[in-house]
Amino acid sequence: MAEIRIKDVAKQFGAFTALHSIDMTVRDQEFLVLLGASGCGKTTLLRIVAGLETASQGEVWIGERRVDRLPPRDRGISMVFQNYAVFPHLTAYENIAFGLRMAKLPQAEVERRVTRTAELMHIEQLLKRYSGQLSGGQRQRVAVARAIAMEPDVILMDEPLSNLDALLRLEMRAELKGVLAESKTTTIYVTHDQVEAMSLADRIAIMNAGRIVQADRPVEVYRNPAARFVGSFIGNPPMNFLAAERVDRGRWRVAGQVLPGPNATQDRIEFAIRPEDMAVGEGGIPANVRVVEPLGPHTLVTADVGGQLFRAVLDSDIAVAPGDTVSLVPQPERIRWFDPETSRALQ
Ligand code: ATP
Repeated sequence: MAEIRIKDVAKQFGAFTALHSIDMTVRDQEFLVLLGASGCGKTTLLRIVAGLETASQGEVWIGERRVDRLPPRDRGISMVFQNYAVFPHLTAYENIAFGLRMAKLPQAEVERRVTRTAELMHIEQLLKRYSGQLSGGQRQRVAVARAIAMEPDVILMDEPLSNLDALLRLEMRAELKGVLAESKTTTIYVTHDQVEAMSLADRIAIMNAGRIVQADRPVEVYRNPAARFVGSFIGNPPMNFLAAERVDRGRWRVAGQVLPGPNATQDRIEFAIRPEDMAVGEGGIPANVRVVEPLGPHTLVTADVGGQLFRAVLDSDIAVAPGDTVSLVPQPERIRWFDPETSRALQ
């Protein structure tokens, strides 16, 4: 069992609070992605779990052991960083074997593990090469193989694909997912790339300004953002938001249309809809089209609704042009509502 429990972990750098009381459990064998904009605290949290940074308060548990006072090497973790940290003076084989030799494993066991992880990462034929003779993608595979060969309880990865070119990233992303599922290792993976997060994660923890705003399955995070920030951060283009005024109990006026919504007592709340959850039809939200971008499978329309930017992803057969006014009908079951005071979702 290698469940990771982060309890009330906070971090101050002088007067600056990088992490506010974080509570999170990563389940045994789960692949959890920490996602957020630059500076939100992802790396700091990962480094605290790794033992490369000390928390100002709180506890970290891995399985049944409290580890936050242990040195990194005693925590049962392996790490993979963005810059690979593969030793240039060693062959791929010796790089993968490095930690195993440090742990004084018998040669037969070193051989077995290097061979197995090299097969897993498709680098069997590169084992004799020095890392200077490897491409970036191959070096990255060596770094991942080295982490897995340790058979750790936990693997921590910090933007491991961000130095690779776009095509290789896609390829490695798919491969990593398969390899880590097979190795059954509990994983925390840091990225600011939402597509990477959506495609890899069992669960995504979305961070903003030192807090975890929502931790949920990718589809949940996308469909049911718990906070306005999540809706505006996930999705490209992001969710649209419009002011909603209370008409009477459970009915709200949005851009001149009256829509059924939550039984909230506030006078004003926020209406939200994803761009792909609308179609052109009768009696919808009147939108003045500004830009039309035909993208092949669909057309992205950027419009003005009451002075606000509003985007819709429409069927590519729809004929619209800048200057047109279209009526955009939201799919009722896809509408979300937010409290403007707390920014939290309303039911
Ligand atoms: P990125 O994606 O850019 O790596 P991140 O989400 O991983 O960002 P962190 O590296 O965790 O962000 O940094 C969180 C905040 O803490 C940032 O505002 C950063 O400037 C600050 N910070 C990190 N390390 C230190 C330090 N040693 N001293 C002072 N401030 C720090």
